[in-house]
Amino acid sequence: MALTRIQCIQYALDRPGVLTVLPGVRGMADLEDILAYVDATPAERDYAALAEMAPQSREARCVYCNHCQPCPAGLKIGTINKYYDLACLGDEMAAEHYRNLELHAGDCVGCGHCDSRCPFGVEQSARMAEIAEYFGV
Ligand code: SF4
Ligand code: SF4
Repeated sequence: MALTRIQCIQYALDRPGVLTVLPGVRGMADLEDILAYVDATPAERDYAALAEMAPQSREARCVYCNHCQPCPAGLKIGTINKYYDLACLGDEMAAEHYRNLELHAGDCVGCGHCDSRCPFGVEQSARMAEIAEYFGV
């Protein structure tokens, strides 16, 4: 099973620190294939199928895929996790981006919807509590 180009582009864009993806283009056919990303639906961009291909590690890690959305409280789950991981590595700009978000981990109501939807086995509701404690919000 292979991921589609659209899924691959989304996966690459979701990696911490990645702002853009520059695919190689051999001709118009490649260009049209790649530009299909722009109009792709969230379902077409969803790469949660990766969870079935990758060997399960002992520690479940958030890969920012947003498959657990929608959050009833409106939290941007993938973005919050990405900023948190970057902040833990010393990225002050990511910490600032986190503080500028409209909703923070502290706004999590602990409903557990994300826990049941995460294909990577992340207990996201507990992670939100951890993130809220780290940032104090
Ligand atoms: S908690 Fe799971 S589904 Fe949600 S963004 Fe992280 S890895 Fe994806
Ligand atoms: S547990 Fe928190 S982050 Fe997860 S869906 Fe519920 S409110 Fe959103």
